[in-house]
Amino acid sequence: MDSKSSPAGRARGELVRRGQAGYTIRLRLPHAGSSVSFFNRLMAQTRDTLREQVQRTLRNRLFVVVSNREPYIHIYRDRKIQMLRPASGLTIALDPVMRAVGGLWVAHGAGEADPEVTDDRGRVQVPPEKPAYTLKRVWLTKEQEEGYYYGLANGAFWPLCHNAFRRPVFRQSDWERYREVNGLFAQAVAEEVGDQKAFIFIQDYHWGLLPRMLKERCPRAKVAHFWHIPWPHPEVFRICPWRIDILKGMLGNDMLCFHIRHHGLNFMDTVERELEARTDRETNAIIYRGHATKIRNFPISVDFEAIQEEAASREVARKMKEFRQQFRLPPRNVGVGVDRADYTKGIPDRLRAIDRFLELHPEYIGDFAFVQVAVPSRVRVEEYRKLNEEIDTLIEEINWKYRSGSWKPIVPVREHLGRTELFALYRLARFSLVTSLQDGMNLVAKEFVAANLDEKGVLVLSEFTGAARELTQALIVNPYSADQTAEAIHRALTMDDKQVRARMHRLREIVRERNIYKWASDILRKLRRLG
Ligand code: UDP
Repeated sequence: MDSKSSPAGRARGELVRRGQAGYTIRLRLPHAGSSVSFFNRLMAQTRDTLREQVQRTLRNRLFVVVSNREPYIHIYRDRKIQMLRPASGLTIALDPVMRAVGGLWVAHGAGEADPEVTDDRGRVQVPPEKPAYTLKRVWLTKEQEEGYYYGLANGAFWPLCHNAFRRPVFRQSDWERYREVNGLFAQAVAEEVGDQKAFIFIQDYHWGLLPRMLKERCPRAKVAHFWHIPWPHPEVFRICPWRIDILKGMLGNDMLCFHIRHHGLNFMDTVERELEARTDRETNAIIYRGHATKIRNFPISVDFEAIQEEAASREVARKMKEFRQQFRLPPRNVGVGVDRADYTKGIPDRLRAIDRFLELHPEYIGDFAFVQVAVPSRVRVEEYRKLNEEIDTLIEEINWKYRSGSWKPIVPVREHLGRTELFALYRLARFSLVTSLQDGMNLVAKEFVAANLDEKGVLVLSEFTGAARELTQALIVNPYSADQTAEAIHRALTMDDKQVRARMHRLREIVRERNIYKWASDILRKLRRLG
């Protein structure tokens, strides 16, 4: 905790707004004019408060999560079975919920050793050290995975919904696999839920058809669905050959959630255009064939306290030292970009902006470094392979253009980094560039803020990320304009320290309060109201 987090004896309290949890009081501390919403911290959701709430909210009901990715995966290492926990934001938020209620998580069993530890219905109790809930694995053939996951979900829906000027590929065979896999999951969930009272919480764009299938098979279940990627303008969605089936499938939900309101509004506009449904703008609901689907938004976030704690660790400090030497970083003018190598992240645009910045400000040549972590992902999809080539070529060209002696401006890292490494990079950086062309949220932006203990970093953030709606103290840019991003880099490097600190301080308050546990808690509260 930084020194400002303690309440000062003579602090003046000022009522600033009434939240769901009661009044929020902003304290003006007597020293240095600093303003800290101390009570916001006290009231902030934590893993423990979430657990308590879950126990109250979900009593007497089976809680089911459905996602493509599993929260625990079993693999072989040195001929022995080992368990890994993929640390996605979703798992961080939902694992404690599941542990508290002893629910059921249904996911694709993708680990090579997964079948070894499950019963004949694909079930295993997790976590292994203290079994608390059931993970049910659904087995897919190679063809099903290829068509449903790589083909339809990532080759069609991902580009369609992100609208990042990549043409979606609509293959009939992929659609058939998608339908088939949605059906398999419906069956897997239904065989566990039957006619019990349940809340089923579906994750993401792999499951456009599942909500209706579940509504039909599990009559006493309330179904909610989080669509973690954007929803495009109706004109864009219109090109999808199976748009009517998808919309009807999604309107099986009792609640459909997006990160930001704008995406929910796009969804409502799409339904108005495509189906004979009634949209109620007052209550944000769609009524289709007598069934109401509520449209809600909940911005996902990160575990602020955990990141802050880890970022302050000795391991991270050690890594910072190591990176400084390994990458030959200058003392101050260091930038960082962290992404999966995905065309929605605007990595080439960002590299061009760095090129433009160095053209405009040659005084930084020799005294500047930008570390770009670009982890290859989904390389089975053609567009991703092309993107990797483009990134490598651009880095090579820019480094060649500006190199002097052994100095080069861009340090590429093309492998997946762990949390210690990432937090070290976040802490080393004077600025972070998040230049997504379109992004449902972007968690890297929030992680950068949470890890910024010294409040010495500047976040440069694309206006087309969900995060930009909340993180308004970032330097907001249009990533399509290299000049605008170059100007923001220059501003980040020349901004006076007081302003840097003030901006980062505000950003940290926001992420601390709207953390991942608040995200889960807000959703649960709304789920409860579904009845
Ligand atoms: N990430 C990671 N190691 C890396 C690069 C990224 O663990 O080398 C993590 C990063 O910390 C973040 C997530 O991957 O939590 C990316 O989430 P984001 O919302 O930014 O983008 P997505 O990849 O989900 O589109």
